[in-house]
Amino acid sequence: MDKVIVLGAGTMGNGIAHVFAMNGYSVKLVDVKQEALDKAINTITKNLDRMVAKGGIDEAKKNETLKNLTIQTDLAAACADATLVVEAATENIDLKLKIFKQLDEVSPPDAILATNTSSISITRIAAVTRRADKVIGMHFMNPVPVMKLIEVIRGYATSDEVTKKIMELSIKLGKVPVEVNDYPGFVANRILMPMINEAIYSLYENVAGVSEIDTVMKLGMAHPMGPLQLADFIGLDVCVAILRVLHDGFGNPKYAPCPLLVNMVTAGYLGAKSGEGFYKYTSGSKDVVVSPMFLKK
Ligand code: NAD
Repeated sequence: MDKVIVLGAGTMGNGIAHVFAMNGYSVKLVDVKQEALDKAINTITKNLDRMVAKGGIDEAKKNETLKNLTIQTDLAAACADATLVVEAATENIDLKLKIFKQLDEVSPPDAILATNTSSISITRIAAVTRRADKVIGMHFMNPVPVMKLIEVIRGYATSDEVTKKIMELSIKLGKVPVEVNDYPGFVANRILMPMINEAIYSLYENVAGVSEIDTVMKLGMAHPMGPLQLADFIGLDVCVAILRVLHDGFGNPKYAPCPLLVNMVTAGYLGAKSGEGFYKYTSGSKDVVVSPMFLKK
């Protein structure tokens, strides 16, 4: 399995391309936007420079990694000789269904089509292709070069052979794969999102303030980051989208997103990426400052 296409050059796509290229795979990074590709190469180069500075890799390894990477906007041309496609485009069901229909048409019949989706059903994505046995979830964690886990999700029709190949490949990438079945939120987000939602409910019901809630979970449960800060980093819009998948998928009201979270997203407070969520993010500053919206008046 040596010709890898990474589709989508955003936060996750650039990290996934980085990890494959650093492990000797020839990687084509594809995006509809040329500026996303340019930004991704810039980010990967900066991240490799940081690894060199910390002594994790040498200059030769950095150059070899960059040599394994090419960028492209033409999906059909990129996929013509692919052995594996890892899709990391925007989390939107209609977009993913359209992409997988196209990937099925332009990729060799024996290519494996993987998706990095956080929550969309692998079975549903696979159903729009003629190779449901070769469609699988490969859920990397952010930041990809640092985080060890890959949640490997078997769709209803994913074959044992394809699952085995992806589990082995994940180990070759230096990661720890965990095999799970395809139910809403898989394992990671089925457990994480209700915790985040409950933290937001605790704020909404005035049980405690932002830093108090995060401190309880950091010091009390040894979490490296509190749930409200983590929600800001994931993106509050992404949290709402995943909670809606859980709510729709199980039909259980316990997964309904907290009204405060929905209000914040509607108002454009999306967390770190928009500059403000539960905390306020000032460019260049590493200080964690609670959003003025949540300071006691
Ligand atoms: P992002 O918004 O940073 O990047 C998405 C990229 O996809 C953009 O560059 C966009 O131009 C590109 N794109 C959109 N339509 C495309 C198309 N038709 N063809 C090619 N490229 C296209 O998103 P992200 O945060 O990197 O998330 C990507 C996927 O990874 C989503 O499915 C998300 O759920 C999943 N994920 C995200 C995280 C996270 O922490 N951000 C963690 C795990 C999984």
